[in-house]
Order: sequence, then C-alpha cells, then structure tokens
Amino acid sequence: MSVEVVNKADKINLMNLDRQGLREFFTGLGEKPYRADQVMKWIYHRLESDFDNMTDLGKSLRAKLAESCYVGPPNVLFEKASTDGTHKWLLGMDGGNAIEAVYIPEPTRGTLCVSSQVGCGLNCTFCSTATQGFNRNLSAAEIIGQVWVAAKHLGNVPHQRRRITNVVMMGMGEPLMNFDNVVTAMNNMRDDLGFGLANKRVTLSTSGLVPQIDKLSTAADVSLAVSLHAPNDELRTELVPLNKRYPIDELLAACQRYVSTRPRATITFEYTLMKGINDKPEHARQLVKLMRRLPSKVNLIPFNPFPGTRYERSDPEAIAAFQAILNQAGLVAPVRRTRGDDIDAACGQLKGQVLDRTRRSATFRKQLEEQGNTHAA
Ligand code: SAH
Repeated sequence: MSVEVVNKADKINLMNLDRQGLREFFTGLGEKPYRADQVMKWIYHRLESDFDNMTDLGKSLRAKLAESCYVGPPNVLFEKASTDGTHKWLLGMDGGNAIEAVYIPEPTRGTLCVSSQVGCGLNCTFCSTATQGFNRNLSAAEIIGQVWVAAKHLGNVPHQRRRITNVVMMGMGEPLMNFDNVVTAMNNMRDDLGFGLANKRVTLSTSGLVPQIDKLSTAADVSLAVSLHAPNDELRTELVPLNKRYPIDELLAACQRYVSTRPRATITFEYTLMKGINDKPEHARQLVKLMRRLPSKVNLIPFNPFPGTRYERSDPEAIAAFQAILNQAGLVAPVRRTRGDDIDAACGQLKGQVLDRTRRSATFRKQLEEQGNTHAA
C-alpha cells in the first residue's frame, strides 16, 4: 500500500476484526461477505498487508479498500535470537510503547508467547512486568499482529508448514483485563481462515479474575492456565495480591465450572518456585490436596530473577523434591525448562518499553536506589 496519503487515524485496521467483524465491515461497504473471507486468507495465510497484491480482488475493490481501511501489523523495533533457538521480537506500539513476543521452538511444537497489555495493572510481587507499571490495553490488531510478525519471520503457512503450533497468552499483561480484544485476537488464531490453530493449542493464562473466567467460558473455547504460585490464601495474597479479592476456593470453583462444560479439558496451574517462600514439602502437600478438586496439571517454573527482586530461584534439590511429592500423588507436574534467559525472554523477564501511567515503576526504582542496586531497569 502506498503510504503517502494513508491517514490511519480515520481508517480501520482490518486486523482488529475477526471473521464475523470483517464480514460485517464488507457488507457495510456494499460487498459480498465472501470477499471478507478472501481478504482474511491474504492477511493470515499469505501474510500480505498490501491490498495491491491481493490479486483476486479486482482493481476497484482494492481501491475502495485502500480508501477505508488498511492491514497494519506492528513494526519490529528489534529482534534477538537465543542460542537455544528462542527468538524475541520487540514490537513498537502506538504512543511510544513497545512490547515483546517470544517464540520457543521444541522438537514437536513451536510456541509463541504473546502479550496482551503494555505493562500490567496487577502487582504480583515476583514479576518484572509489575515493576514497570501499566500504560494501556493492546488492540486486537496489536495482539494478533504479534503472531503475524512471528509467522512472517518463520515462514509459517497455516495447515501446511506450521512453525507456530501453539500460542500462549503469557507475555506482558493480564489478558482477562483486556477481554474483548483478547477474544477477537484468539478467534483469529483459531479460525481456519486465520492461523488455524486447534482450540486447545491456544492458552490463556490468568492471575485469577473469577468473573472473567466465567465470561470466557462461553466466549471462547480455549485452554485455561491459572497462575497459582501458592497453596494457601495467606501466601498467595502475598505473592498475587488479587487473591484478596478472589481467594483460592473461589478461584478453584471457577476453574471447576470452566472444565465442567469441556469434557476432556484440564486446567494448567502455574507454580513459580521461589527459594524458601513456596517451595517446601508442606507446600507441595497442600497443593496436592487442592489439585484433587479438579482435572489439573501443574507447571513448575523455576523463578527467573530480574534486577532488584527480593526473591531467588529454588535450589534444584528443592525443585526435585517438590515435583516428587506431586508425582507420587499422581499429578502431572513438569518443570518448565528455562528457555531464552540469555536474551531476557524467560517467564517474568519480558520488559518492552512501558510509558508508565501508574507511578509504580518510579516507586520501584526508588526502592532499588535505596537498596544501593545500580543496575536498575
Ligand atoms: N497475567 C497473566 C499472564 C502472564 S503469564 C498471568 O498472571 O497468568 C506469565 C507467567 O509467568 C505467570 O504465571 C507469572 O506468574 C509467571 N512469572 C512472572 N514472573 C515470573 C518470574 N520472575 N519467574 C518465573 N515466572 C514468573
């Protein structure tokens, strides 16, 4: 698309719409809905953003589209490859912000970790995103755009040459605080005319917003992961302050409701292991009791440190002992191998560039200075 006169402000970015939205948009232009399907394939299968190259559309339609809309994936500001094959993109977002997306290749799958907000509004004490404060929700286009950029780089072709087989909403932000945009983007991840991923291979991870878990249950058929991190309310409230509002009992009840309408589904519980905090055998035994309530799997994540944090990663022996207790009780509990930590792409290490509106980042920096820590973010 020629850029000279594209004033994006009054045009719609088609990546903000899912199939239904696109069809409505095309009908509104006086076009047949199947045209929307054609365009969708161009965007997500052939990764084309220029209407001029959408050769089966006809010249007049292409001109009409260029007048009213555009296909706008995010700009890549910077990218970095890890020695283990992990790849990270820093993507520019409107308003001077930037977020990160990370690709993690494994022998049998390729997982893309996607952000949902610039920064995060929650205050989990062990997460580096929390120290950066919050700016805004990402648009649906900015969310699906992360998949688009990675797909283009990796040469992904839906249904044929799958480089991205899984998407996890586990980057920056709390996806359920950006509900509508996240659902629209996840629709495009799973649509055959979009990236064509299987429902269960798209995973939304939440810190535990109970009402929105119920809302998600009818809005999108995706896998659910829950950041638990502690087996009792006292400790969880310390690590995930949202627990005060939605304590463990209520959270697990919402998870039970979520799986009750999905016959073979399990919930993945994320449990970040921090030395001397939540990694003792008694914690593992408490966790086993909680997990008996529903079909579940526990992902054990060794804590990833970041400048200024007061937590440390658990010792390998403590991790092994913790895992053994879960396994003996019949629970599936893999330890997540730390990937991409040489490029700061591991869980809880994503930084981006957050123009903070909450002053939380300033408070954190002040604390760091007081501790005499000079490599502050
Ligand atoms: N806000 C959502 C999505 C973020 S997912 C959620 O909380 O689920 C990122 C996962 O990594 C969460 O489980 C988060 O708790 C975990 N995490 C955050 N900081 C971490 C750190 N420093 N080390 C290891 N895991 C961390």
